Amino acid sequence: MPPKHKADEHASRINYLFQAAQQVVQSAPMLSQHYGEIITLISEKTVAKLDYTMKRSMCKKCKAILVPGVNMSYRLRKRKHRKCNPTMVITCKCCNEVKSLPTQPGRKLKAELTTATIS
Ligand SMILES: [Zn+2]
Repeated sequence: MPPKHKADEHASRINYLFQAAQQVVQSAPMLSQHYGEIITLISEKTVAKLDYTMKRSMCKKCKAILVPGVNMSYRLRKRKHRKCNPTMVITCKCCNEVKSLPTQPGRKLKAELTTATIS
């Protein structure tokens, strides 16, 4: 059944491209990177927000889909102060772009907090 609204169509296209990019990231990394560029273009043109898991698994510089052990590495970097939590440093092996994400034990993202309730 085709989607009823344009937004649904864009979301399904982005989802399809993301899944396709994840499938071909090992065999055809350039194709995966191209899919990442298309995902970024669609989300920019349609002003659609990407899911946080999708956003975190894409390189901002080269638009590659990051898969641990294939084209990315991650490590925890300790902070100078003991009280501060370590940061997770993600390195893209395609373009050597580094991004760091804060970690906090027990902290959940906003998207994780919203729960579906069935009444
Ligand atoms: Zn990259």
